Amino acid sequence: MTLEITARAKKMKASGVRVVSFASGEPDFDTPDYITEAAHRALDLGITKYTPAAGTVELREAICNKLRADNGLNYDPSQIVVSNGAKHSLFNAFMATLDVGDEAIVPAPYWLSYPELVKMAGGTPVFVPTRAENGFKLTPSELERAITPKTKALVLNSPNNPTGAVYSRDELDALAAVIERRPMYVISDEIYEKLIYDGEHCSIAACSDALKQLTVVVNGMSKTYAMTGWRIGYAAANKTLASAMSSMQSHATSNANSIAQYASVAALADVTRADGFLRRMHGVFAARKQLAVDILDGLGVEYIRPQGAFYVMVSVKKYMGMSVDGNVIRSAADFAGALLDTAKVAVIPCEGFGAPDYIRLSYAASESDIKSGLDAFGEFLTRIH
Ligand code: PLP
Repeated sequence: MTLEITARAKKMKASGVRVVSFASGEPDFDTPDYITEAAHRALDLGITKYTPAAGTVELREAICNKLRADNGLNYDPSQIVVSNGAKHSLFNAFMATLDVGDEAIVPAPYWLSYPELVKMAGGTPVFVPTRAENGFKLTPSELERAITPKTKALVLNSPNNPTGAVYSRDELDALAAVIERRPMYVISDEIYEKLIYDGEHCSIAACSDALKQLTVVVNGMSKTYAMTGWRIGYAAANKTLASAMSSMQSHATSNANSIAQYASVAALADVTRADGFLRRMHGVFAARKQLAVDILDGLGVEYIRPQGAFYVMVSVKKYMGMSVDGNVIRSAADFAGALLDTAKVAVIPCEGFGAPDYIRLSYAASESDIKSGLDAFGEFLTRIH
């Protein structure tokens, strides 16, 4: 359905219809010049050959420096595996940790690829709904109740796509205490780390040595440096898991793109420029988030107040069974379809995110699109009866 809505929106745009899209999953910023310049340099220097499967030593060292400086985590380059985007790192992580029949606990709402990745590794996703009163974050007792003899891993995603929830250090410590009593791997997806407006990022791997041993930290260049198309993600893990991921990748895809790896070293190593870009992007997203929630407050809709990432989930539960222009809304997908057809606003229905009563709006869009799109959204709501 997600693809259907985006494909339909694209088709409408191509035929000249003005569509405001809140469907984007990537920052609408150009990759900073100092990074693209490094890519040009890589080409001039002939950095066009195979690299070690797990990534160049320079990039793995730069990632170790980043994890130490930002997350208080000490890894050796042999514990880092660079892959074709964080999604590939997640795939490697599930393949390395799960055997056929193992269960992976996936708090819902979740990013829609986790269940599929778990299944591709032969595992079974076990969904645990999180609750509004807990800020849509998994609690220790919910985790405990989901554990079975087959539990092998927990998926954590902070900041979360789609809810924008950000786990605090205390919340992670409380989950870590459960995991120390009943060890399981933690696949910790931290890709939105730098886009937090309320709270601070903490990696569960930093909670204790035991958790660091059990956790695969997944992060990458895509969201932080507006580099979604470059396909560079990475995983940090204990040596056994890192070497399993690296050897699997060496047979499946070999190294990630050599030019993108070279540019990623520049992205991470030039801390001053990185900070400048991140501050600017963060400021823009923070302002857009505020604008979006202010308008949503004005519309009186129920939504999840995001702490991070660039999405806001709006509840469409109260419209179920109602009609717009003679079409009955029976699902979030129906709602999104009608919104696109009549208001020319594209949003993502959240059935695939384990949240069938919600739609997801991305505020990776200009302020004028946020204003005009949410105005049209508000007008659409008045036509539902
Ligand atoms: N993890 C989450 C939560 C995401 O939202 C995304 C992309 O949308 C990814 C991972 C994938 O990142 P990448 O583009 O580096 O593969």
